[in-house]
Amino acid sequence: MVKGRLICRRCGGELDPAAPGWRCECGGHLDLAFSPRPRREDFKGVSGTLWRYLPALPLSDEVEPVTLGEGGTPLVAMTAPGGARCLVKMDHLQPTGSFKDRGASVMISRLKHLGIREVVEDSSGNAGAAVAAYCARAAMKCTIYVPASAPRAKLAQISAYGAQVVKVEGPREAAAEAVLRAADNVYYAGHCVDPFFIQGTKTLAYELVEQLGWRAPRTVAGPLGNGTLILGLIQGFTELLQAGLIRDMPRILAFQSHACNPLARAYQEGKPNSVKVEPTASLADGIAAAAPLLGRRILEEVRRVGAKILDVGEDAIRNAWRRWAALGLSVEPTAAVALAGMEEIGEEPGETVVVVTGHGLKHLDQSVSSSTVDVRR
Ligand SMILES: *Cc1c(COP(=O)(O)O)cnc(C)c1O
Ligand SMILES: [Zn+2]
Repeated sequence: MVKGRLICRRCGGELDPAAPGWRCECGGHLDLAFSPRPRREDFKGVSGTLWRYLPALPLSDEVEPVTLGEGGTPLVAMTAPGGARCLVKMDHLQPTGSFKDRGASVMISRLKHLGIREVVEDSSGNAGAAVAAYCARAAMKCTIYVPASAPRAKLAQISAYGAQVVKVEGPREAAAEAVLRAADNVYYAGHCVDPFFIQGTKTLAYELVEQLGWRAPRTVAGPLGNGTLILGLIQGFTELLQAGLIRDMPRILAFQSHACNPLARAYQEGKPNSVKVEPTASLADGIAAAAPLLGRRILEEVRRVGAKILDVGEDAIRNAWRRWAALGLSVEPTAAVALAGMEEIGEEPGETVVVVTGHGLKHLDQSVSSSTVDVRR
């Protein structure tokens, strides 16, 4: 039913992947050891959803996908406001408006199959919306712990799917602590702790490579908070390389906001784990993770594949957000972090893909600009 082995990151013990349990008895989090070697002709599924890549996923055919049509997003050539050309991977066009649907669909499909009826999760917004939607689709009960400061539209979206929302005062980490207390009694479907989530986000790499005619782009850029996007990309491209489906590892560029940059600093300072930072207010609420749980692993993987972690300032984020919207691409500010980063770097040799991660509709209430004119009679 499940392929691969679940290994405890702390004690090295092995858990039964067909038995429910989100962590080891020793308290350690779990890694999934799974190295598929798919061939191109294995991907016979109808295109349009990520379930086309089932032969590369750690779930067997008997698992019924919990799907809302996630995956299969367009790759569109655009010219950045500064003139650089790039390919935009439109992953804001997912059922709940962010790339997190990829992870939620795969994670919840397995949990549904295991017979889990109720989960808790913590999130600054988009992961919560994704888990809430897929739980609704699977008729599972769901409670999402969020920082009280999360954008109102995201909170409204989570409750619209029927999930219970628990607002926790304080930084993002306070919600993470609160969910752990709840997780004593209810299954913790945490997007950072459940390794099946990254198995879903890795399909971005497969999809990009297929869209480019089975070759890797030269550069792939995306925002980085807790790492489920960047780890998914690295996992996917690593598998494609091992399977001989691509020849080179793309250059992966991960961008943080300067206001909350524990991984960019650790990367630049050569540290093995995230650096302690005091976050300041940022437009990029979706990546405001001051103490990313997977910090050590992110830095290891980033260094292993020669990726880079950079950071951009708030002005650059705001400008990219507005200027890309004026070109027709409405994203949320968190997604604009990577657009801002690419703009600062300028045109790269070879193809550059920017993964656009969240929809502008999630922030519209805050983005009404000076070009709005009120007419009174
Ligand atoms: C979650 C999220 C990210 C970053 O993903 P991490 O897994 O936290 O690194 C980027 N953009 C948007 C819109 C997100 O919701
Ligand atoms: Zn253990």
